[in-house]
Amino acid sequence: MGKQINVALIGNPNTGKTSVFNQLTGLNQQVGNYPGITVEKKEGICKLPNNVKAHILDLPGTYSLNASSLDENVVIELLLNKNDKDYPDVAVVVSDVENLKRNLLLFTQIKDLEIPTILVINMADRMKRKGISLDIKQLEKELNTRIALVSARKKQGIEELKEHILNYRHISTEPCLNASVMDPPYFDRLRNAFPNQSLYKLWLVITQDVNFGNVNRNNILNNQDFVTKDEGTLKRMQQKETILRYQFINGVLKKALTIDVNAAKGLRASFDRILTHKVWGYVIFFGILLLIFQAIYDWSSYPMDFIDSTFVLFSELAKQHLPAGSFTNLIAEGVIPGLGGIVIFIPQIAFLFLFISILEESGYMSRVVFLMDRSMRKFGLSGKSVVPLVSGTACAIPAVMATRNIENWKERLITILVVPFTTCSARLPVYLIIIALVIPEKSFLGFNLQGITLMLLYLLGFVMAIFSAWVLHKILKIKSKSYFVIEMPNYKMPIFKNVGLNVVEKTKAFVLGAGKIILAISIILWVLASYGPGEKFENAEEIVTSKYSETFLPQTELDNQIASYKLQHSYIGNVGKFIEPAVTPLGYDWKIGIAIVSSFAAREVFVGTLATIYSVGSDEEETIKSRMASETNEVLGGPLFTFASGISLLLFYAFAMQCMSTLAIVKRETNTWKWPVVQLVAMTAIAYIAALAAFQALS
Ligand code: GDP
Ligand code: MG
Repeated sequence: MGKQINVALIGNPNTGKTSVFNQLTGLNQQVGNYPGITVEKKEGICKLPNNVKAHILDLPGTYSLNASSLDENVVIELLLNKNDKDYPDVAVVVSDVENLKRNLLLFTQIKDLEIPTILVINMADRMKRKGISLDIKQLEKELNTRIALVSARKKQGIEELKEHILNYRHISTEPCLNASVMDPPYFDRLRNAFPNQSLYKLWLVITQDVNFGNVNRNNILNNQDFVTKDEGTLKRMQQKETILRYQFINGVLKKALTIDVNAAKGLRASFDRILTHKVWGYVIFFGILLLIFQAIYDWSSYPMDFIDSTFVLFSELAKQHLPAGSFTNLIAEGVIPGLGGIVIFIPQIAFLFLFISILEESGYMSRVVFLMDRSMRKFGLSGKSVVPLVSGTACAIPAVMATRNIENWKERLITILVVPFTTCSARLPVYLIIIALVIPEKSFLGFNLQGITLMLLYLLGFVMAIFSAWVLHKILKIKSKSYFVIEMPNYKMPIFKNVGLNVVEKTKAFVLGAGKIILAISIILWVLASYGPGEKFENAEEIVTSKYSETFLPQTELDNQIASYKLQHSYIGNVGKFIEPAVTPLGYDWKIGIAIVSSFAAREVFVGTLATIYSVGSDEEETIKSRMASETNEVLGGPLFTFASGISLLLFYAFAMQCMSTLAIVKRETNTWKWPVVQLVAMTAIAYIAALAAFQALS
């Protein structure tokens, strides 16, 4: 087998690169990140005729080679670096037949790098409706390359594209534009100073105001034999270059493209008017969101219940069939529930991304972004932050993953950092039990006080998210300028393959990327709760049994007492007692301390842990509640759960980052531990201060 052909897919955003990529590679694809940065890297393998294989790289969308964003830097850096293992043997520029003129600008730039460059004209299925006709033969001659007229939707032209890739060696590498016409004497000097380099490559390196990791710009700028020009002059030359390119393109298209204007229809414009309307736009968007979340809640509850009971069953089977001992306990109580804790998220993630990619594919999402962008931008967010923020009310994990299509890194990071403030469903069990304990069941102006409290907590989450976004926007010094153009692509029926592959990819990313960390932390937490230092833990059973030897206790009652005693003297129990001085000012005791520590795994664990400590079975909700109500505060006297300590706890859970899975996914999405650690520390600090202030003010 010979060497693989390296292919790079390049093109403006929304021209269908990923769709073409999906058609070429199918499931043979993987998604990662470019080293050191969080720009998504999609690559895959494509089988060509004659048993040849091609390695396909789906590069981020870019308008031109004049870098303005992180994504575009990736493209330029690759194309300027012959030593990169992904350096393309052949570039495939994907263009949209409806926007050929603008798309060809990038094509001419790539071709001028003297890389064989195939042109894909995609969305051929729309030509008839739009009255577009093309003379492909003529166009091939004018552009001096091979062209594939493709419809990724209808799977047309893909085989032809594969043929072109296979025969890439026959493609001319003659530039479209002779760069030196911009300023002949200047380019002559450039050529003399660096005789072995492509002229356009040199020009690109000179004019980029960024330094690339792999290209030493200073070598050129500080060369003795070559004096470049001042910045203003270079800018003007760049503008001249763009004008020259468009002149070339206009000339080409005049010969090969005709558009029958009468064929285009005006339906799109009226849709746009409604969907981006100041009132109706919001009404429709929130209506759609409501439907989506209803569906996610309803539909995923079935697979989630199933997953839950399946893993319980596995644990029981493991206990029955493996020899009793600590290894079996580890498997049955640590590993299997840990795995269950990962798999349980899959339905929500899959459903959310099913809907998101349908909205994106159909072209609707661009209208939402257009609608929301201006107001979100004031807070350092983007129009695209709306979906993650709203998704956060279900679960922060898919929400963090949904930030991927925010191009601007700063906006994306801020969204990731603030999403965990929105009230996710894991907070509900904690909220509900504490509200039931400390908020009277009265009505206020005809509204139920408990209901109002819950609503205020949701509101608080949102307000906190927006507010911290604004603060981060002010303090984060991240340069990520992007000349963001909101594209308004046409409305389309979603391509099923794209939607399916996206769902598979997101689910895989979660399981493989965050799953490891979640599993590891849940095993650690289990060990800490199941083992303890010293005699008391060792001999828990005898101690408790002998304590109750006089009184007759039913076996389950006795078991509950033993479990409680063990947990109190486990490592986690000791941590809980250790932090008691820190949580006393918030109105808590060491038992709540233990519950807080162990609910770091997931917030909903709080209630179950308290149930164990209070030695009641965790499925008897009324018992837990009455047990909590009768607890007394050993330091201050009186009941432990008062209005003051209850509000303090509610605020703590509203703000604290009590979720290892979210930390794991943030690590995966930001590619570093820095941001999850910042998040953990900052959110815990905010939670602590808010809880402290509330307790001290109210008690
Ligand atoms: P990318 O941003 O370049 O990766 O573009 P995508 O592959 O995400 O496609 C952008 C939009 O164009 C999506 O809504 C696709 O469904 C749609 N699309 C892609 N290829 C075709 C095509 O051949 N015909 C039509 N009508 N739509 C397409
Ligand atoms: Mg894409």
